Amino acid sequence: MSTNNFVKSACRQCGGHLEFPAAAAGETIACPHCGQPTELAAPVLANRVSDSRRKKLALVAVVLVLLIGLAAVLNLRRKFDRGVISEKNSAPVALAKTSAIPVVSSVLPAKLTAEQRTNDFAISAVKLEKTPGSSLVYVTGKIRNLSRRQRFGVKVEFGLFDTNDTAVGKATDYQPILEPDGDWHFKALVMESKTASARVNAIAEDRQ
Ligand SMILES: [Zn+2]
Repeated sequence: MSTNNFVKSACRQCGGHLEFPAAAAGETIACPHCGQPTELAAPVLANRVSDSRRKKLALVAVVLVLLIGLAAVLNLRRKFDRGVISEKNSAPVALAKTSAIPVVSSVLPAKLTAEQRTNDFAISAVKLEKTPGSSLVYVTGKIRNLSRRQRFGVKVEFGLFDTNDTAVGKATDYQPILEPDGDWHFKALVMESKTASARVNAIAEDRQ
């Protein structure tokens, strides 16, 4: 901010209009209107205070956003590091409510688009999908083999829950062979009509 800025003020004695360089604020002069000594008040002071307060608030907001982002990243990483996706930390997949218009597929909550990992498998794009023109519902999504070996007898199992989050059953799908780095687009049939959400229970190889 330039110190050459002129500031408007009023004489403390007669209220007459005063205009002076900001750098002169605080000085006492003889008023050009009444001749009485008057201090050149700096009305910009209040603005400066609120301005710096605004900057402080903005800084606090930025720091908060960064902390929240960091916490989210750490939380996500902790889940991955655990290697096992439990029912507790795998969020439910919402199924759009049945209506007269057939539901082609439900919209997945944003946080579930993030990949989850377990047993050297990664699972992503999980959703409950209703087949057009039929009442069949499937849990669909993609499982990737993260290891460098073929995987045999891969089974994925989902817990199914109703709108009250009460367990109503399970849905599974099976893939005989999954190549290294290979993708499997699974489709697990949902038998229970009350199903409103699904959570990954396990992805594992059949070791028999
Ligand atoms: Zn005056």
